[in-house]
Amino acid sequence: MNMLVQPAPFPEEMDRGYLGRIMRVNGYRTPKDAVEAMAAHFGEEGRSRRDLTTHELLSRMAGMTTEHFAQRHTTLPLRRGITSYVPSLIHGSKERKSLLHNSASLRKGQPAFFCKECVKADVHFHGASYWRRDLQTPGQIWCPKHETPLYFITSDDPFLASPAMSIDEAAQIPQEWVKPAIKNAYVARFIELAASLYDRPSPLDVALIAPLLRDTGSAQGFKVNASSKQGALISDHMKAVFPPQWLSTVFHEVVEKSQGEYLHQVDGTLYLRKSASSVIAYLLVLSVLFESADTAINALAGVYGGGVVPAPHRKPIKRSVPAIDELVEGYAIAKGVHAEVARLLDLPVYVVRKSLLELGLPSLPEWTPASEVGPVAALRAFYLGKRSYASCLEISGLSPGRFDALMRQCGPALALALDRMSPKTKDRPRARRVKGRLPSNQEQGAVLATPQLREMLLQN
Ligand SMILES: [Zn+2]
Repeated sequence: MNMLVQPAPFPEEMDRGYLGRIMRVNGYRTPKDAVEAMAAHFGEEGRSRRDLTTHELLSRMAGMTTEHFAQRHTTLPLRRGITSYVPSLIHGSKERKSLLHNSASLRKGQPAFFCKECVKADVHFHGASYWRRDLQTPGQIWCPKHETPLYFITSDDPFLASPAMSIDEAAQIPQEWVKPAIKNAYVARFIELAASLYDRPSPLDVALIAPLLRDTGSAQGFKVNASSKQGALISDHMKAVFPPQWLSTVFHEVVEKSQGEYLHQVDGTLYLRKSASSVIAYLLVLSVLFESADTAINALAGVYGGGVVPAPHRKPIKRSVPAIDELVEGYAIAKGVHAEVARLLDLPVYVVRKSLLELGLPSLPEWTPASEVGPVAALRAFYLGKRSYASCLEISGLSPGRFDALMRQCGPALALALDRMSPKTKDRPRARRVKGRLPSNQEQGAVLATPQLREMLLQN
């Protein structure tokens, strides 16, 4: 049995990029050889990759469950974020190996995006550059931290080499594409909604959200079925409100269709109870129908009555808001995850969310007490460690704009809640991660650029 070095994945590091780093650290030249060596390393030689998937092997190398690895290091939570296909299945679950085998790892042949400034910063802080999931989110064509157009490469398996190794062959997204997109409110909603799907351990079920889309769409005067004579097409409206080049990078069919032409993949989302299209179409529709990403997220959470997955036999829902103490206590137990507080208190998420925000308790991304970087580590450093704003911004890994937005949601009760969340025992596990900062921007991020984007990029 050969022994491999098992590097810890960087925050938000893409799975395939992680595989590339394992190859370099251990001196393997092809992913196939590296994956076989990983199987041997764990004493699992001879099993097929359908039986023991690359995803499982990478999760083991990272010391994580297949679910956690999928939720933090793959684009799966976004790619199957809204679906009618086994929506109750947790992302990364071993229950459906075929899903892991076919789609957990980022498929080859996708463009891979990076920011040159982030690459420099990563080499400085982590000693290596790596592929950040948040920069791979469709529509995220600029770096939110540095506000410059991203670079990309389109080789067969681009994530295997590090971004630093790819700089010479990379092309940059044209500034003219970025300019109109970066200030567009609809684009901002789209990207925020995409990021919110990374907070979810399982998909949103199309059958459950379809009535919400239909009712909201109908109330706003959009056609809710193909044969309806009345109403406007939501695809026409999209074409009018999104910058065309940006829209082409995420869903080029909308740009190419003519005015008044019914586009099933997009217009069908307002009434079909089976996935009409890709997640992208649903995110576009949600960005148009709701005035902010928060409103959309609240509305979606309301559909679920506060649970992460639909419960078949829910008790009648209480509507009364509990006392402040109970809310703060629930918030501390749930580690700041609003949906979890709602579940604990058996209240709808929108009720709990509203009350918590009024108390200055924002919804926190997933974290552990050992985390030394990330938004929650930054809040703890600020409120409990009394560190300076500037050093907390650095710890957060967020862009100044996003960090400010987070800070503005925080009130004095947060210090109390953060303190209650901290374990009082001495044996707090030390972070295994390299000290440094989180990815440049969102708490969550990933890729899913379409082949069309690749074509478009290559033509320009
Ligand atoms: Zn950057």
